Amino acid sequence: MSSSDPIRALVSQLSRLPGIGERTATRLVHHLLRQDRALLHALAESLVDVADHVHECPRCCTLTANIGRCSVCEDTRRDDAILCVVATIQDLAAIEATSEFRGRYHVLHGTLSPIDGTRPDDLRLQPLLARLLDDDQGVAEIILATPPSVDGEATALYLKKLLGLHGLKITRIASGVPVGGDLQFADKPTLARAIALRRTI
Ligand SMILES: [Zn+2]
Repeated sequence: MSSSDPIRALVSQLSRLPGIGERTATRLVHHLLRQDRALLHALAESLVDVADHVHECPRCCTLTANIGRCSVCEDTRRDDAILCVVATIQDLAAIEATSEFRGRYHVLHGTLSPIDGTRPDDLRLQPLLARLLDDDQGVAEIILATPPSVDGEATALYLKKLLGLHGLKITRIASGVPVGGDLQFADKPTLARAIALRRTI
């Protein structure tokens, strides 16, 4: 196998992506090779563009192509008093899509995981503490919106301890049965949590 073979080189690069083994990578490359060459150039340009211009927002750690801070951090109409901590950029996007939340965000880029070896130092915790002492001293409430998984709960508990020292109100997103769902089809832990975290109406 020669590394100068461009097809093999591309297969090798693509196989490093999550969920893509060598067979899938080979199939993708042969699919691409059947396309118009203009599409391949556009794809290559997009990759270069992303590599050159996308960076972490220095305030909330989401990814942005803005020079400096991301558009949420730059938006002066958002509520500075409430900060929502999420595990991933995709989770931020999902919450934004609901239009229910008008505060600020902080992206951890993961959850604590003994199995994956993700430790506190691997998450964007220092930038979170730094912003609370700097630009975001006006924060009154922090919503812990890490996923309701074992790792997500462990991360929320860790954050509660860490941030509790700052005298902030710390809340956790609710979880329970899906809207429009049938109780009988909900899994046991989900239903148990829905009962435990019931609220007055
Ligand atoms: Zn930002």
